[in-house]
Amino acid sequence: MSTIADSIALVRSRIHAAAKAAGRDENSVQLLAVSKTKPAQALRQAYAAGLRDFGENYLQEALSKQLELRDLPLSWHFIGPIQSNKTRAIAEHFAWVHSVDRLKIAQRLSEQRPAELPPLNICIQVNVSGEASKSGCTPADLPALATAINALPRLKLRGLMAIPEPTDERAEQDAAFAAVQQLQASLGLPLDTLSMGMSHDLESAIAQGATWVRIGTALFGARDYSQP
Ligand SMILES: *Cc1c(COP(=O)(O)O)cnc(C)c1O
Repeated sequence: MSTIADSIALVRSRIHAAAKAAGRDENSVQLLAVSKTKPAQALRQAYAAGLRDFGENYLQEALSKQLELRDLPLSWHFIGPIQSNKTRAIAEHFAWVHSVDRLKIAQRLSEQRPAELPPLNICIQVNVSGEASKSGCTPADLPALATAINALPRLKLRGLMAIPEPTDERAEQDAAFAAVQQLQASLGLPLDTLSMGMSHDLESAIAQGATWVRIGTALFGARDYSQP
């Protein structure tokens, strides 16, 4: 049976190979372990095997794991849809938010970020797949949103996040991720982060400039939503 450490080694070798193929430094791509639905014990094993950054989609689940794992120096990333009544807890308990797609949410996160914590790192989620996806701002709305978020005092706008429509066609993957990279470049802001690429398409994302790949299944195995 393969362990989480084996899976991490495999994912790291995929990242390494993809970076090399793209002529990029492998250290320019960071691994975010997406741990939604997985028990705290699995995160503890991933920590023991060297991972520090964990991405969660559901606030209550994330907060209970944070409590169980409070003895570990982990960095927590919120990557799921955000309702306005959840912003305070997100502002207080995470280092990064990858899934901001409207100004109202960003304003609340900025107002509610505790003064003693560093600014909250933000990626704007952009929808490059049109009607196939309901999350993310439209490319047309992105420039104004990015400018407004960049001006908020307690946030640090780092870049863009995208979840393109899943496809096994490498050319389609490349086109979607390239669109995200071009949108980012067109903003003319000093951004250093592209959060894109999941278990099935990290190679394409890295070829198109990803700096965070968000990996769940390839690290922890398939998710079973029938389990509480
Ligand atoms: C679940 C999830 C992932 C991980 O997807 P895998 O295909 O399991 O690697 C990445 N990003 C977001 C936003 C997710 O919700």
